[in-house]
Amino acid sequence: MSTVADGQIVIIHYTLKNDQGDVLDSSSGADPLPYLHGAGNIVPGLENALSGKAVGETVDVVVSPEEGYGVRDPAAVQEVPREAFPEDAEVVPGVQFVMQDDGGQVIPVWVTAVVEDTITLDANHPLAGQALHFSVTIESLRDPTEEEKTHGHPHGLTGTESHH
Ligand code: ZN
Repeated sequence: MSTVADGQIVIIHYTLKNDQGDVLDSSSGADPLPYLHGAGNIVPGLENALSGKAVGETVDVVVSPEEGYGVRDPAAVQEVPREAFPEDAEVVPGVQFVMQDDGGQVIPVWVTAVVEDTITLDANHPLAGQALHFSVTIESLRDPTEEEKTHGHPHGLTGTESHH
């Protein structure tokens, strides 16, 4: 029987809930999600939980923030003036932007508040600090294409999807 191991493309259906039982994300009703196992495509706690599991198995796991999207860092919150954004940018809570730090590293930030001309940006992932309740069914496994191996991520369900 084939089981999940490093270097395989794993195709899953998943539902993610928070501690309150609210559904935060789900592939239900849509295509399943492909990812490359062992490549950090998904949060470490989920990747670990899926290792060695077989096709058809359903895995229920609670992933801690440390093994999920990280603990919240209060220092990652900053206020910036509206003028820091392009005039035509939609700056409303929930919108994501990318910024560059002093070393040129690109970091994603989320708008969490807009008070008059002051915008609050948070570099914490919106799910940082939260326990993640995953229910995952392993639909299928396949070998990666050479290109997928090089890129470290899947190109769609079959490996033939064009790249973006
Ligand atoms: Zn690619």
